Amino acid sequence: MIVTSQSANALSCTSGSWKIWSLSDGHVDMSADLLRRGPGLGKYALPGPSQQEPSLVRLSVNCFLLEGAGGQGVLIDCGAGGQWEPSLGHLDRTMAEAGIDPSSIGTVALTHTHLDHLNGLITRDGREAFANLNRIVIAHDAVAGFVDEPHLERFRHLLAPVRDGDRLNDHLAALAMPGHAPGHMAYVLDSGEDRILFCGDLIHVPAAQFARPELTWAYDLDQSIACATRVKLLREAFDTQAWLAGAHMAKPGLGRVAEEGSGYAFLPIE
Ligand SMILES: [Zn+2]
Repeated sequence: MIVTSQSANALSCTSGSWKIWSLSDGHVDMSADLLRRGPGLGKYALPGPSQQEPSLVRLSVNCFLLEGAGGQGVLIDCGAGGQWEPSLGHLDRTMAEAGIDPSSIGTVALTHTHLDHLNGLITRDGREAFANLNRIVIAHDAVAGFVDEPHLERFRHLLAPVRDGDRLNDHLAALAMPGHAPGHMAYVLDSGEDRILFCGDLIHVPAAQFARPELTWAYDLDQSIACATRVKLLREAFDTQAWLAGAHMAKPGLGRVAEEGSGYAFLPIE
């Protein structure tokens, strides 16, 4: 992948005939106490000066737009809209910064239905964010979570449920990554030159979880499964030299995995 543009909140690169954007929705600061030593274990103290006090970890919120030759764009997750903290919900501003027309997006593919991935379907002033949206790809097991959000009722007819291995187009497939949320789904783009894994919430605290993939996040639905998924995926990403694109890795959230010690290191795209 070759970086072709970069601004404060957006980065684009090309791979084969695809253009891939990382678009920042903003960030959210969360308690470092949510990080656990492992499934079912207690808090993990992040190394650093403020161990005595509850510290915060800053999570980027990244969305990814895939533009193929011709055709409409596929947006993977769409941020928080106006539904969470003011530091989030800025995807529309980032798109304007990048010169992207939101009406060019035909598909939103959701990794899961937590609000910071989903609510950007609606703008802060209540409009539909993507005028030409014709499909919302979502795991079968995540549909109930979507239907539980009454304010998203107007989008239900667009839901296109997928299972592990289903294809969204000739180059893009769904890949189950269970553990974090019901039906947590990754998407894999095979551009012909690169394999890029859009891995959603597989990793929340990159500064800790690449080196120690066994560390879990308290909001993982099933910490044991999430941990096993993370261990397996990082191994695969390294073995296949795939790129990782993570929703909460420091923006732009795109890079490769290297082995380091008994774990891994993240090598951000340059
Ligand atoms: Zn998330």
